[in-house]
Amino acid sequence: RAKADGRNTYSFYSDSLTLQARQRLLLEQRLRNAIKQNHLTCYYQPQLDITSGRIIGAEVLLRWIDPVDGIISPDTFIPLAESSGLIHPIGLFVLQQACRQGQAWQIAGLSNINLAINVSAQQFNKGDLQHQTTRILQETGFNPACLELEVTENALMGDEEDVIKTMMELRAMGIKLAIDDFGTGYSSLAYLKRLPLDVLKIDRRFIENLPEAEDDQSIAKAIIDLAHNLRFKVLAEGVETAEQLAFLRQQSCDYYQGYFFSKPVPASEFAELLRKQRRLQQNPTD
Ligand code: C2E
Ligand code: MG
Ligand code: MG
Ligand code: MG
Repeated sequence: RAKADGRNTYSFYSDSLTLQARQRLLLEQRLRNAIKQNHLTCYYQPQLDITSGRIIGAEVLLRWIDPVDGIISPDTFIPLAESSGLIHPIGLFVLQQACRQGQAWQIAGLSNINLAINVSAQQFNKGDLQHQTTRILQETGFNPACLELEVTENALMGDEEDVIKTMMELRAMGIKLAIDDFGTGYSSLAYLKRLPLDVLKIDRRFIENLPEAEDDQSIAKAIIDLAHNLRFKVLAEGVETAEQLAFLRQQSCDYYQGYFFSKPVPASEFAELLRKQRRLQQNPTD
């Protein structure tokens, strides 16, 4: 009886693993197809200067638009892309599409738009990011000074000297570097101090309960001061309310992005936001 139970439990368990593995394989196959069929596309979320309220650029956020299922979140497919190696072609695709788009905006007179692109740990640590980026910048003509690469703390956990070398090479090309989701990883302050960074992005979870939560107030203030003392700019992610924005402005945070101003939008909508800003600048009474 006990033995039978054991066997049942075992077979139940292994069946469910098989199902999970099968689902994973299926999703991976669908993702390969999506790449081939051009179902991946970049969305753009405005990033603003907190003092002037001007759009200074956008974070590039990948979307998988399936003809049947609609929009599939990157939280579903980026981890799969990372474990299957598909992140390499996907990462190049994002870099290429975004730089091409950025250059088209530049030519259309929507100038000096900064594009911040997410780079996975695997891409960052593969050793050819500098060369691939150089090639794409040359092919597209996009200004490296308008390109920012976002990496998370865990991407920087490899060999310290290798990490710093990669970062220095990217910066020597004129590219800016941001640390994403700051405060959720394990990087020490001693290490942070050595990193050639331009921007520190405060993770959304420290913003969401502002301004009420006192612990989050202290954390946000501490991160902003830390960033400024290290001569980095600081951007708050996930700003959803006027009160959060007011608090961050008071604390001298430099930039923000979040649903309060805009969700990530397709390229055409982002261009429309830029045109609207330009019209307002030219005719402030409109
Ligand atoms: P992330 O880089 O930290 O991006 C910020 C996420 O917060 C985005 O989710 C964005 O849509 C969301 N967000 C922005 N403002 C708000 C807000 O006010 N409230 C709330 N609740 N959420 C907000 P998204 O687009 O679903 O992307 C999730 C993650 O997927 C990204 O986190 C990033 O880690 C990854 N990802 C997205 N695109 C790419 C890509 O092209 N390459 C790589 N390697 N990763 C990507
Ligand atoms: Mg990001
Ligand atoms: Mg983030
Ligand atoms: Mg994130």
